[in-house]
Amino acid sequence: EEKESLNFIEQIIEDDLKSTHSKDALCFRFPPEPNGFLHIGHASSICLNFGLGLRYDAPVNLRFDDTNPAKEEQRFVDAIKSDVQWLGFKWEKECYASDYFQQLYDWAIYLIKEGKAYVDSQTSEAIAEQKGTPTKEGVNSPFRDRTIQENLALFEQMKTGEAPEGAHVLRAKIDMKSTNMLMRDPVIYRTLHKSHHRTGTDWKIFPMYDWTHGESDYIERVSHSFCTLEFLPHRELYNWFLDQIHEEGTLRPKQREFARRNLSHTVVSKRKLARLVEDGVVTGWDDPRMPTISGLRRRGYTPESIRNFADGIGVGKRDNLIDVSRLEFSVRDHLNKVADRVMAVLDPVKVVITNYPENETEWLDAENNQEDEAAGSRKVPFSRELYIEKEDFREEANKKFFRLKLGKEVRLKNAYIIKAESCIKDENGEVIEIHCTYDPDSRSGSGTEASMRKVKGTLHWVSIKDALPVEVRLYDRLFTEAAPDANKEVDFMEYVNPNSLEVITGYAEPSLKELQVEDKVQFQRLGYFTVDKDTTADKMVFNKTVGLRDSWAK
Ligand code: ATP
Ligand code: MG
Ligand code: MG
Repeated sequence: EEKESLNFIEQIIEDDLKSTHSKDALCFRFPPEPNGFLHIGHASSICLNFGLGLRYDAPVNLRFDDTNPAKEEQRFVDAIKSDVQWLGFKWEKECYASDYFQQLYDWAIYLIKEGKAYVDSQTSEAIAEQKGTPTKEGVNSPFRDRTIQENLALFEQMKTGEAPEGAHVLRAKIDMKSTNMLMRDPVIYRTLHKSHHRTGTDWKIFPMYDWTHGESDYIERVSHSFCTLEFLPHRELYNWFLDQIHEEGTLRPKQREFARRNLSHTVVSKRKLARLVEDGVVTGWDDPRMPTISGLRRRGYTPESIRNFADGIGVGKRDNLIDVSRLEFSVRDHLNKVADRVMAVLDPVKVVITNYPENETEWLDAENNQEDEAAGSRKVPFSRELYIEKEDFREEANKKFFRLKLGKEVRLKNAYIIKAESCIKDENGEVIEIHCTYDPDSRSGSGTEASMRKVKGTLHWVSIKDALPVEVRLYDRLFTEAAPDANKEVDFMEYVNPNSLEVITGYAEPSLKELQVEDKVQFQRLGYFTVDKDTTADKMVFNKTVGLRDSWAK
């Protein structure tokens, strides 16, 4: 009945629903490793898996792939949960691969007893050496034919910690001549004498990814296990492992692959992002320059804007680089609908309205959002001395300059029409004060003839004596190259943009005092800004989310 076109992932599911699967057998999962914060690439996977859950009314598990105690931490688990929730998704079960350690171990014993796994006591270098190459067959390990008894005894020593760390590994006995390198007796267990964030020191052996992932899918009865393209050659192994333990009549998970999404001018790899944090290039995982979900959140992104971005690029079969301007378009588009318009001046020059009474303050009506009537209006103070942006004034300019110039008029947003009469300059010739006169009958919304007068150009402004000084953080690309990690010869850190952050003081209308952390506003004519968590009672801090238009001409 649906006419819309299906993407290839949905097509796989539709085909399965017609042949092998009943609708209530569908189950998906999102399986992050808790070794860092989630990034915008993960958002694609989250939106894909949870999106399928919504589409087919099927459960989606949040599964922590926590098999490497050397890299994983509880704080990453917490951050991942909070990010998925913030994006607006609900998981069915919160699962941990570490909860399956006993089951995985039992199955490993079973493999040994079946003669399908053996303990190898060689160095990892020797094992790698024997693996061969895609064009050269591998060589059997001298330990490949150990007896079942010997294997069980050694595996037991690995498990108890009696065997020194790294002395042995457990390998699946498959085929050292396979054309698929991953099938050449892959390691399925290694010893690590490190404390695990959930199992503590209970386990001294840890299962490898390939052995864990498919079996976890099976335990959870995940019908479709979607992973990124680099796992395509792992599919054969995924299936081999399932063949060993799958019981007749139970759901058999299916691995399918989709393309990784990369974003320009940044890196999307937890390992690389960790280096930015460790080397102090950024202030933390949630630095507003980071492509992490929490960094984007702090930068002022909304969950909707990230979901729209991910859904907009959709799923693909080939890895590609998405220009960051697409992400920026998405947040601009959403904030345009929801953010109140306010006035702030970021690069001020003083304006004196010479015919306006001293010491007087007028509170003028200002509409909050012309895109949203329900947003209402507020009052902004007007007085004799104002700030406007330096770049909004020129002594002389051609006809295309619709801002303030000597002898010409502009409208001050929500206020009056003013005319520049003269200016004062400092010893360097820089304008430091502009003297203007105003037309008292021209107040916006007053209904007078003068208020309807058409003047080219409307400027934003703030009343100096009422202005709220605020810290404003302006951001640039974190990397100077579009694909900083594309060239394997060069360390991506070489391409870090040394000028990705500029901190300035801006002057905002006083209504902004009421804003809370994460509130979002449009500074009229400047862009979208959000209140940063570094805000204190004495000083508000704003992050620039994005400008009003794409200023990144190619
Ligand atoms: P990273 O290198 O950043 O650690 P990963 O793939 O190792 O990435 P996981 O925590 O294992 O990170 O990822 C969880 C899920 O998110 C996986 O299914 C993975 O394939 C998917 N994923 C990770 N990065 C991307 C990306 N850039 N685009 C699409 N999906 C991604
Ligand atoms: Mg992974
Ligand atoms: Mg990784």
